[in-house]
Amino acid sequence: MGIEYLIVGSGLTGAVIARVLTDAGCRVLVVEKRKHIGGNVHDQKHESGIRYHTYGPHFFRTSSREIWNFVRRFSHFYPFEAVVKTIVDGKLENWPIAAEYIERTIGPDWEPCFKGVATDFEQKALSIMPRLVYEKLVKPYTEKQWGVQADTLVPELALRFDVRMDNDPRLMRSSCQGLPSGGYTHFMESLLLGIDVRLQFDFLKHRNDIKAERLLVFTGPIDAFFNYRLGRLKYRSQKRALQFLADVDYSQSHAVINNPSGHSRRIRTIEWKNLMQPGEQRRCRGTLLTHETPFTASDPDQFEYPFPDRENLALYEKYRRLAEDCPGILICGRLGEYRYYDMDHAIARAMNLAELILQRRNQG
Ligand SMILES: Cc1cc2nc3c(=O)[nH]c(=O)nc-3n(C[C@H](O)[C@H](O)[C@H](O)COP(=O)(O)OP(=O)(O)OC[C@H]3O[C@@H](n4cnc5c(N)ncnc54)[C@H](O)[C@@H]3O)c2cc1C
Repeated sequence: MGIEYLIVGSGLTGAVIARVLTDAGCRVLVVEKRKHIGGNVHDQKHESGIRYHTYGPHFFRTSSREIWNFVRRFSHFYPFEAVVKTIVDGKLENWPIAAEYIERTIGPDWEPCFKGVATDFEQKALSIMPRLVYEKLVKPYTEKQWGVQADTLVPELALRFDVRMDNDPRLMRSSCQGLPSGGYTHFMESLLLGIDVRLQFDFLKHRNDIKAERLLVFTGPIDAFFNYRLGRLKYRSQKRALQFLADVDYSQSHAVINNPSGHSRRIRTIEWKNLMQPGEQRRCRGTLLTHETPFTASDPDQFEYPFPDRENLALYEKYRRLAEDCPGILICGRLGEYRYYDMDHAIARAMNLAELILQRRNQG
């Protein structure tokens, strides 16, 4: 029997669509270019026993009961609420910014610097904080992360953080937060249980050899799918250097410490032991760190953050219109839609798309 639905990519988007379609009785094949399943959420254990996330720290959070119940079908999640600190003037301050820090720096009667309708990232950030605070905490980090001036980025990027008037130190305030007890790779294995997955299969190199009877779902980069015919979309990524310190128990106070300083190219350091459950932590000797340094990637395997400027969003829009004119093909996910999706949003989007696919199937 042939394949009804061919799903390219075993990340959250591809795996959730594959799960929903398989549960509904469809014949599905997932093909994956990498040696492993799971896409960007893949994790592994270091020889010390410390688990680390291959492609940067992934903190699961959602305020949707439906998504929370869905993910817990595939793994137990232990409670974990990420707290991120950022180095400013040699001290660790909260990220997102605490009102208490602004009061300490500016005084109790501080006001946001910008009033009006923000047309770029800088104005949007200044619409919630004084300039001095922006220049110490936000501007240098943003410019290091993206490698361009902050006022060339879109205002929507500033919606990813806020000023905490109640000084809540948690990275996110979602009502359900946690990490899968056996790690993300185990979670993804369980999500894909019973589904045919072919690893190390680059669809773009074999697209003429494999066909879907009903639909091809492509979750890789949309510009690569069209052979970059309209130009290349820009992505920012992180070079990751893993460092094991055998004689050190803990090297930093929190899981993630941001370094906005222009004196170093590193942008943040993750200490993985700080993500583990207390019982597991005690069993591990030494500590494991990942140091991240941003760069602009040209290898599709390294694509991480879509570039948040107007030029790239306009180019994506042209690709999106091209994709709309291709019957039998659905291009989706963070790379397919050139969009940063948190994991819960990627799952919700994939569930909705799978439901639409099933509706069409039922209509014949
Ligand atoms: C650095 C970083 C940190 C993040 N941290 C968080 C976090 O803390 N919390 C949170 O909620 N979200 C986080 N996210 C978002 C999260 O990673 C995404 O929501 C998730 O990866 C989306 O899954 P996806 O399936 O759309 O994409 P991916 O995980 O990228 O999956 C796409 C898959 O397609 C495969 N593929 C591509 N091209 C081909 C091809 N030609 N043939 C075969 N296979 C192919 C790829 O190898 C990959 O496995 C983070 C993202 C990044 C970049």
